Amino acid sequence: MNAEIIAVGSELLTPHRQDTNSLYLTEKLNELGIEVRFKCIVGDDAEGLTAAAKLAMRRSDIIIFSGGLGPTEDDLTREAVADALGLKLQRDPEIIAKLEERFAKRGMKMSANNAKQADILTSAAMLPNTLGTAPGQWISGKYDGDERLIMLLPGPPYELKAMFEGECMSRLRARVPAQHIAWRTLKMAMMPESQVDGRVAPIYKTYSDVETTILAGAGEIQLHLRCRKDSQAEAEARVEELAEKIEDELGDAIFSRKGETIEQIVSYLLQMRNMTLAVAESCTGGQLAERITSLSGSSRYFLGGAVVYSNELKTQFANVPKALIKQHGAVSREVAASMAEGIRKRCLSSYGVGITGVAGPSGGTEQKPVGLVYIALAGEEGTQVVERNFPGDRKRIRQFSTQQALEMIRRALL
Ligand code: ATP
Ligand code: MG
Repeated sequence: MNAEIIAVGSELLTPHRQDTNSLYLTEKLNELGIEVRFKCIVGDDAEGLTAAAKLAMRRSDIIIFSGGLGPTEDDLTREAVADALGLKLQRDPEIIAKLEERFAKRGMKMSANNAKQADILTSAAMLPNTLGTAPGQWISGKYDGDERLIMLLPGPPYELKAMFEGECMSRLRARVPAQHIAWRTLKMAMMPESQVDGRVAPIYKTYSDVETTILAGAGEIQLHLRCRKDSQAEAEARVEELAEKIEDELGDAIFSRKGETIEQIVSYLLQMRNMTLAVAESCTGGQLAERITSLSGSSRYFLGGAVVYSNELKTQFANVPKALIKQHGAVSREVAASMAEGIRKRCLSSYGVGITGVAGPSGGTEQKPVGLVYIALAGEEGTQVVERNFPGDRKRIRQFSTQQALEMIRRALL
């Protein structure tokens, strides 16, 4: 069975509000083995809503509306669904009584417009709203010969969640044939998407029953594998088999198999090896330290470090000789290495990281263009420096740089 989610609200079409209800609903539907095939966001506009509802009725087994159930003029979901399905709305006196009671409890008189929240579609079951005024609705029936399940849920996320969990999950479980989804997320750092796909596409293409999606971020590729089967064991076995083949191909380029972040992996490895880390950051301005310390317990392996933006502080805090900066420039292989070694020595850590580069958009030259970054890792076994020309804007270049540093630490600890 396939589902479609229609999020209703003009605010969701502005840059100020995100439709998070559909993410929540998708997670819950997937738990039941239901795939979401379409999502749609419609403003508070009757014509648009009716059109969206009609389209959904043609292509989806389960249709969930969120929002537009309130008492105001712009709350139009009930009317639009009635129009699209050719159903009538009937005012339910019991719901009116309950609404009046709710207002009375707070010492208020219900205003007339609230009554429209009691308009229930013929053949719909009312879903009580424990946290708000607008009740939801559940409709099940045949439309043009196809079995359809339709839910009207309130927009406020906490009301929608309570109603979906309290009323809809059990109803859906009873209606939906048991299906099971298994998934894996494999993550790689600092590999181009085309290279990953070139190597793994010949493998996953032979698994047509496993849906494979590649997601690329700054310095990170994620491979999402999903498989739907009649039993959980069958689905698990299929994704596991494919995951293993991909792991054989990519080897230790894969840093995570269960969705862990690279920070988490570096954290496990440092603790396992009983090692510590200190950082000296220039163009990343502390982002590496921020990422590492975002994990609770990081004090066990992260000693600290310094943001050494100026040449003076590179010397003062990371022991970089003045002459070295003068000779090679602050953005250079030599200075990055010296920063890593200097901070390691000053902090008495097992590893030291040095990052120096041109994050842009200004400050680039022909010899040292925007995106040029040197990342150094100093350890007992010596110092390695990587020179990279990262693409993108300031934010992406900084993200790439810290990702590269984390990947170098991970590789050194393997
Ligand atoms: P009511 O009018 O009684 O509050 P409603 O069902 O009409 O209920 P809306 O007015 O559409 O709900 O939305 C109420 C609140 O919920 C708003 O703050 C809105 O931004 C938020 N909201 C609505 N839809 C979503 C959504 N899809 N994801 C996240 N928040 C949402
Ligand atoms: Mg609204």
